[in-house]
Amino acid sequence: MNQPVEDCIIIGAGLSGLAAAKSLDEAGLSVLLLDKGRRPGGRMASREFEGAMFDYGAQFFSARDTDFRSLIHSFLGAALVTPWFERPGETRYCSPLGMNAIPEFLSRSLRLVCGVTVSVVRHDGKIWRVIAQDGTVYSSKALIVTAPLPQTLELVDIPADVRAALTAIEYHRCIAILAVLDGPSAIPKPGYLRLSQPPLQTLADNRQKGMESEAVGVTILADAGFSLQHWDTPREEAAPLLLAAAAPYLGSNVSHWRYHRWRYSNPVQIYPERFYGLDQTPPLALAGDAFGGPRVEGAFLSGHAAANWLLTK
Ligand SMILES: Cc1cc2nc3c(=O)[nH]c(=O)nc-3n(C[C@H](O)[C@H](O)[C@H](O)COP(=O)(O)OP(=O)(O)OC[C@H]3O[C@@H](n4cnc5c(N)ncnc54)[C@H](O)[C@@H]3O)c2cc1C
Repeated sequence: MNQPVEDCIIIGAGLSGLAAAKSLDEAGLSVLLLDKGRRPGGRMASREFEGAMFDYGAQFFSARDTDFRSLIHSFLGAALVTPWFERPGETRYCSPLGMNAIPEFLSRSLRLVCGVTVSVVRHDGKIWRVIAQDGTVYSSKALIVTAPLPQTLELVDIPADVRAALTAIEYHRCIAILAVLDGPSAIPKPGYLRLSQPPLQTLADNRQKGMESEAVGVTILADAGFSLQHWDTPREEAAPLLLAAAAPYLGSNVSHWRYHRWRYSNPVQIYPERFYGLDQTPPLALAGDAFGGPRVEGAFLSGHAAANWLLTK
């Protein structure tokens, strides 16, 4: 089925796509977000499991930039965001509702279709044709792609020098364990530990973050080395290695666990500009944390910058 021509289609409803959509929507453009996931948020992922709540992607975020800080301050009033802990020079924020509540809230005023995997992108004259796996064709006058770069590069046709620069950007992998405990964890306040102790990267006690739940859920993130080495190891073999390493900090028994693999966790290198814009008819912009910086705030700033550029076209 063919759809009406939008002013802009955005592929990816992670924070960068949502930030771009919000800016364009506020400027009066018709914007459609498409995401292959079941819900918006991408790597700002949360879930409930066996009575415990978990953030299993981004754990917290900083807000150094003025635009991002003012958005976050508006969320503080609505109890969507809360300060979690301080580090020299900055506050680390989280959501007591789970990090996914932030993109979910942002998406409410936007037009978003989830469960749509875009498989082909091409343009007919001045119009982009964005073709989903199920054959649906979406059309727009401008396009922003915010998927992790290896997925973006499968879709778009861009000059060879830029393609080479973007292809060179690698991503860390990350294996996450969601562990439900039968009692309180031994992770000291504020409930977050960054360990420079392979195979662990971080441990976070989701209840200490302020997430209400019957049971205690601890998110265990493996470091990049372990995640790469054990990417293809069956979860029944890899999970016990991580649980054993985490045991001294857990303080209670693990009653249940789940396993999640992030193929594109964080970009290792960053493109030197906040976005890439292809000034052609129809225009194309690429955005995401590989442009803005490997964090939630970087994704937001990248999407915002890409949208502002499109508004000048
Ligand atoms: C385990 C982990 C821990 C982290 N911890 C922190 C932290 O503590 N603090 C911090 O600031 N950052 C952290 N980050 C990084 C942060 O989550 C990301 O930088 C940020 O969320 C990236 O947002 P994005 O919009 O660029 O990309 P994503 O959130 O990846 O969004 C891209 C979207 O594109 C969609 N997509 C991809 N391909 C297609 C397609 N073909 N068709 C349709 N949709 C498609 C995906 O479904 C996804 O929703 C962490 C990340 C991980 C994985």
